Amino acid sequence: MGDLPILHVDMDAFYVEVERQNDPSLIGKAVIVGGESERGVVASASYEARSMGVRSAMSSVLAKKLCPDAVFVRSNFSRYREVSEQVHEIFYSVTPHIEPIALDEAFLDISGAHKLFGGSETIAWQLRNDVYVGVGLDCSVGVARSKLLAKLASVAAKPTASPRGVQPGRGVFVVPSEEETSFLQAHPVEALWGVGSVTFARLEALGISTVGELAAVPEDVLVETLGASHGAQLSELSRNIDHRRVHSQRKSKSISHEETFAQDVFDRAHLVSEIIRLSDAVSTRARRKGLAGRTVHLKIRRPDLRYVTRSVTLSEAVSTLPAISETATAMLDQLDLTEGVRLLGVGLSGLGPPGPQQLSLVGEELSDPAWGELSNAMDRIRERYGHSAIGPGLPRKNEETNG
Ligand SMILES: [Mg+2]
Repeated sequence: MGDLPILHVDMDAFYVEVERQNDPSLIGKAVIVGGESERGVVASASYEARSMGVRSAMSSVLAKKLCPDAVFVRSNFSRYREVSEQVHEIFYSVTPHIEPIALDEAFLDISGAHKLFGGSETIAWQLRNDVYVGVGLDCSVGVARSKLLAKLASVAAKPTASPRGVQPGRGVFVVPSEEETSFLQAHPVEALWGVGSVTFARLEALGISTVGELAAVPEDVLVETLGASHGAQLSELSRNIDHRRVHSQRKSKSISHEETFAQDVFDRAHLVSEIIRLSDAVSTRARRKGLAGRTVHLKIRRPDLRYVTRSVTLSEAVSTLPAISETATAMLDQLDLTEGVRLLGVGLSGLGPPGPQQLSLVGEELSDPAWGELSNAMDRIRERYGHSAIGPGLPRKNEETNG
């Protein structure tokens, strides 16, 4: 199943769970985020409230009637946005190809991530775990070949709320290729995009209530009933035709620093001292942002202007100076330096929250956890006295070539 390219990730009762982190007394209660007034609307409901029939976008008056014990909480969107950004950073540690749909929802194209992180289902479970470790919230992940199927799959992965109570969800739901048709066609038509109340009524009038029944209707009949574009689109979706791609909105996030030399450098010691200096800058920036990265990059440019790039992906995210600089130095040592180096760059990508033991993997000298504390102490000193107040013990630099 490693080839299923699309994940749909959807946080479970996102606003409610963020509010519960803020006020743990809300845990276990029927909670409604939204205005309590006459004209208030439900922005999000806990699964306890949903089991009483409460739904998003329902009027608060009706919600109160259905669930008289519900605790109303005023929405705090700036906080939801903050947590959402943290969640999206975690997504970006898996793939740069992310299409945010809402604060609590996104599509991920993981077709380029298998080499690093394994099969699609493995990635889905790992991501779900990373989100929980990173922000303390649950999400549901759908894994499939297309956006339509991935979206339906994330719904299938969710907890369910019925009058009998709340049932935990599967967390991850995979739609294998051979089960696509049966999975899709068992859904009610309103599970498809673009089936609102008007369309639903028209389809119902044709005696159509499931996607399977919709798929059996000739496309021209749907076009006649629903109009050209809408009819054709629904007909295609019902027949499992969905070519929509994940439209990512930003480039792969990374932190990098580089230096162009006034004269080409051939001396390894000089290059290593530059690596340490650049790694220090990368490390400082990463830690200031509360990030660590799994992939360390080394970039050099030859005197003939060719770029040579190398990268190593570690089993855990790192952000300390020695972890970055030693990984980069090891890559440098694989390159032929007799050709000379005109530009040197060090970068960190696959950014996300730091792992629990980010010092453990880069060799013996680094297993000393004091490095994390030392790095933090350096950050504090620099905050007060400026960046040059303290730094790693560098091999002596040639001042002329470094400006
Ligand atoms: Mg959600």
